[in-house]
Amino acid sequence: MRFYTTSHGPRCNSRTWPTFCQYCGQRVFYFTCDCGCKVFFDELGAPWPKHQCLGYLHSLIETYGREVIERGMAVMMMTPGIDRTYTTQVQQAYEREVWQPAPKKDIIRRDPVHDAREDVVGIVRELIDGVNVFKLLGTSDNWFSLAILGSLAKAECVQITIHTGALASADNYSFTFLVDKQLLMQQSIVKGALIRCQLRSLVVPGWKPIWICDRVRSPLEEN
Ligand SMILES: [Zn+2]
Ligand SMILES: [Zn+2]
Repeated sequence: MRFYTTSHGPRCNSRTWPTFCQYCGQRVFYFTCDCGCKVFFDELGAPWPKHQCLGYLHSLIETYGREVIERGMAVMMMTPGIDRTYTTQVQQAYEREVWQPAPKKDIIRRDPVHDAREDVVGIVRELIDGVNVFKLLGTSDNWFSLAILGSLAKAECVQITIHTGALASADNYSFTFLVDKQLLMQQSIVKGALIRCQLRSLVVPGWKPIWICDRVRSPLEEN
C-alpha cells in the first residue's frame, strides 16, 4: 500500500463503478486505485460521502479488523481527495449511462485460450441459473467428458456475464463463465452487483474453450 500526497486520479489508476450495496441494496459507487483505496461512496463527487450502512461497516471490520477501522485507515487512504478532472469525467460517464442504459462503450468479448487465468472485477450483466455444462460445451455426458470435467460435471452451474469497464474508462471487456452454484450460496449475486472473480480456462479437445470461475469475492477483499 502506498500513500500519495496528491489526489487520486488517472495517475494512480483510479476506477469507479456504479453498483448496489450488497447489504442494504442502495445504489453506491465503488472506488479503487493502485494506492490501495477500496471505498463505497453514496455519491459521485465532492465531498464523496462514504457509504456507511451497518452491514457494510460490519464487513469492513471483518476485512480490515476493528482496530484498523477505528484508526481511520480507510479515511487515511482517501486523503487528500480525488482529482477534480477525474471526478467530472466519471460524473459525465455515469450520467450518460443513466440516460442511455445500452452499452455505449465498445465491449470486447474475452474468450479463454489454453491455460488462461484472469482475476477480474466487473459488473454482473447476465445471470442464467441451472446451466448444463454439457450443453454449453456442445457434448454429451460420455465417460470422456465426465473424466475431464470432474466435479463440475455433477455440479449445478450458474452462467454469469460480467463487464469490466469502469466509468470513463476506455477498456471494457466482457467475460462469460460458469460457476458452481455452491460457491455462490453465501453471496447475493444479482444483476448490477460488482464482483471480483478468479477465472481459468477449461479446454477440452474438440470443444470450444470455456471460462470456469473458482472463486467469487467482494471487490473489497484482499488476496
Ligand atoms: Zn490513488
Ligand atoms: Zn449498504
